[in-house]
Amino acid sequence: MHSIIENIGLQFGPGAAWLLTSTMIFLRFAIPTSLAFLLVYKWKRKEWFAWKIQQRFPKSAQIRQEISYSLLTSLLFGGMALGVFFLRKMGYGQLYFEVAEYGWVYWVFSLAFLIVAHDTYFYWMHRLMHHPKLYRRFHLVHHKSTNPTPYTSFSFHPLESVLEFAIIPVLTLVLPVHAAAFFLFTLWSILFNVLGHTGYEISPSGFTRHRLFKWLNTPTHHNMHHHQARFNYGLYFNFWDRVMGTNHPEYDQYFEEVVERTGKTPQSKSPVPLRQQITKAAAMVAFLLCSSVASGQMSLDDIKEGNYGTPEYRTQQVDSLMRLGLALRQDQLPKVHDINLRSAKRVEEEVITPKLSDWSKYRRLSKIQNDKDKEMKAVLNATQFEKYAVKRDELFWKGIQDFFF
Ligand SMILES: [Zn+2]
Ligand SMILES: [Zn+2]
Repeated sequence: MHSIIENIGLQFGPGAAWLLTSTMIFLRFAIPTSLAFLLVYKWKRKEWFAWKIQQRFPKSAQIRQEISYSLLTSLLFGGMALGVFFLRKMGYGQLYFEVAEYGWVYWVFSLAFLIVAHDTYFYWMHRLMHHPKLYRRFHLVHHKSTNPTPYTSFSFHPLESVLEFAIIPVLTLVLPVHAAAFFLFTLWSILFNVLGHTGYEISPSGFTRHRLFKWLNTPTHHNMHHHQARFNYGLYFNFWDRVMGTNHPEYDQYFEEVVERTGKTPQSKSPVPLRQQITKAAAMVAFLLCSSVASGQMSLDDIKEGNYGTPEYRTQQVDSLMRLGLALRQDQLPKVHDINLRSAKRVEEEVITPKLSDWSKYRRLSKIQNDKDKEMKAVLNATQFEKYAVKRDELFWKGIQDFFF
C-alpha cells in the first residue's frame, strides 16, 4: 500500500496521495460504523430497543452533521498519515517492519504503551476542551450529539480532531512501533470509539463494579458524558476518572438501570406512553369509585357533589398524596435537574405544607404539576425535559399504584 501511495504521489502530486489516504481512512472508519449503524438503528431498531441507553432515537439532522464532520476529520487524519509517511521517507520516524528488530516482548509493550499513552493524553486534553471558552469554540461540535450514534466517534471540530489524536503520529516519530502493532492500535481505537458511541449497552450487570472490568469504560459511561456534558471524560479506561473523581456519581446505578431493562419481558421493553398510563389511571379511579359505592363508603350523590369518601377514607387518600408529593420532592426533583431548586421549593410549599385534605387539593396538585411542566420547559433543554418527563411519569404511575393498592 505504501508504494501505491508513493506512486500516486509521484504521478499525480501530493494532493492525489492525500485524497487517497483520506479515503482509505474514511472507509476504515465508515465501514464498521455504517455496519453498526445499520444493525442497531435500522435492522434491529425495534428488537434491540431495550439495549438502547437513552430510550429514544436521535434526529436525522444530527446524523447528517456527524457524517459531514467525519469526512472533514478523515481528510485531516489523511493529511497526518501522509505527513508521517513522508517524514519516514526522509529518514524520520520509528515505524519498523521486522518484528525481530526489537522482539515480541517489545512488540506487545509498544502496543500496550500506545493505548495507555493515548488514553492518558485524551483524558487531559478532553478535560481541557471542557474549559468554557474552548468548549463553546471547539468541543461543542462533538457535544451537539447529545444522543450519540456510531457516527459521532469521528464528529469533531477540525482543530479538535488534530489535537485529540495528534499524539499518535508524534509517538511514532519518537517510539519504535511495528507496523502491525500500529495497525492494531488504530483498529482498537476505532472499534472502541464506535462501540462507545453506538448508544447501546451490551456489558452484563455488575460490569462496572467488577474488580477487573470496572477499569474498562462502557458505552453507558461515554453516553452519560454526551447526555449531560459533565463527568466521564475518559476514553478507553476508567482509570483517570476514578483517580481524579470525575466519574459521574450515579454511573454504577445508571448502568444497572440500563442493563436491567434488557432482562424484562418484551412488553416492558419500550416505555409505556403517557396516554396509556392516564387511561389506566382513569380506569382505576372509576373502579375505585364504583367499588366504594358498592361497599357503601360513598353514595352517588356524594360523587356528584364531589365528596369522595368518608373522612377516614379521605385521610388515607391524603396520606398517599403526601407520599406522592414527598416522592416528587425527594427523589425526582434533585436527581433529574439539580438546577431548578425553585420548583422543588414550590412543591414543598404548595403540596406538602398545606396538608392536602380532599380531592380538590388533588386537582390542585395536577395544576401544580402542569405549571411545573411549563416552568421546566422554559429552563430545560429538550433532552433534559424529556428525561424529566419520563421520571415524572414513572413517579406518577408509581404514586397512582401506591395510592390505589
Ligand atoms: Zn464522544
Ligand atoms: Zn466532552
